[in-house]
Amino acid sequence: MDATLHTPPWTCPFCALLCDRFGVAQAETLTPVGTRCPRAARALAQFGAAPSPAKPAVNGQPVDAQTALDTAAQWLARARQPLFGGMATDVAGARAFYRVANACGAIFDHAHGRALTHGLTAMQDRGAFTTTLAEIRNRADLIVCIGASPSARYPEFFARCAVGSEPGNADEVGPAQRTVVFLGCDADADRALADRPGVETLAIPLRNDLYDTIATLNALLAGKSLRAGADPALAALVVRMLAATYTAIVWIPSDLPGAHATLLVEGFDRLLKALNRARRAGGLALGGDDGGASVNQTLTWLSGLPLRTGVHRSGLEHAPQRYDTARLLADHGVDALLWVSSFGADLPPPHTTLPTIVLGHPGLAAICADREGPTVFVPVSTPGIGSPGHLFRADGGVVLPLTPVYEDTLPTVAAFAAQLGAKLASHKENAA
Ligand code: SF4
Repeated sequence: MDATLHTPPWTCPFCALLCDRFGVAQAETLTPVGTRCPRAARALAQFGAAPSPAKPAVNGQPVDAQTALDTAAQWLARARQPLFGGMATDVAGARAFYRVANACGAIFDHAHGRALTHGLTAMQDRGAFTTTLAEIRNRADLIVCIGASPSARYPEFFARCAVGSEPGNADEVGPAQRTVVFLGCDADADRALADRPGVETLAIPLRNDLYDTIATLNALLAGKSLRAGADPALAALVVRMLAATYTAIVWIPSDLPGAHATLLVEGFDRLLKALNRARRAGGLALGGDDGGASVNQTLTWLSGLPLRTGVHRSGLEHAPQRYDTARLLADHGVDALLWVSSFGADLPPPHTTLPTIVLGHPGLAAICADREGPTVFVPVSTPGIGSPGHLFRADGGVVLPLTPVYEDTLPTVAAFAAQLGAKLASHKENAA
């Protein structure tokens, strides 16, 4: 094995924690160094040690880059209502596609738009008390994980928050004693946490369902007496929250159950507001993977509106329910789809017979060749693997630079978008 190490600083782009203290080894495929994170290992295994020789294709037939670009521009110029979906890209990709959206009147959604919308809607309606990884690491003596253990999708979460770090570790700057509560979720995967110095873990089952449980906690925190009698475990949790110096409530938006998960997020925020009257508390939604947090921030910064916004010729329209990719496709609300999936082959375009332009990881080539409808496939570089870039972390305020492992021969999403924008502009001039 050729263990050519890409030593830190390398920032892992494969989930919104953006860990920046590991390295990469280049063998037959890439492998992580310094972490056992299975998510990073699985994602890196999709890349060879050298740039991919993948070529663009139209309807499964290999074409040159110019033909792919011309075809994509023609389809977008002809479309009355295009949708930019997936949008798994970095800040530069989102910026470049905002310009293209202005040229062709596209709607923006993200592959994780539905999960992101719960938090956005709750924040727009009621505000939010948010926290960061650094605040949790430095201050939280009580961490309440709701609905799913953070480490199920974010394997390095507890390490990033220095929960159970060895005494004397430079990272161990937080409280000497912490309690981690798993509310309505399996703590098995984190059983080892309980053996770490200064960590107590506690699993509390739900009372009926998550909605009922959060309503009960809010009632107890508000000092209401419950007719059916309070669940002793939930009552004890409220006592713990009121005694804690800093409570962090952590949830994974994509794992929240039911069609009305926004109500749950509002319930978490009510808990946090009540706690902040006497103590300190903050919430962390662990989401925004595949560039979701970055595209949302970039779009908000450029247009004043978050994801699920249409950049129409008549003006901007934010429609968080209506501008849902699955719904738009099912309702025939769009007539062309541009799908971006630059971080891996796990986000294929949705099924549709509409003309579809896919900017994706080379591993999507076979899926795109087998699609029913007309499809342009352009293999693109992955930020943090074949090209530099920037991503926002899950906790919002931090944007991290991505350092490539090798220099790619594939175009970046931003570079292709810039060419597409120029082509669309020349189409307009010719039509005028
Ligand atoms: S937790 Fe996320 S960012 Fe950290 S190494 Fe694993 S996949 Fe990468």
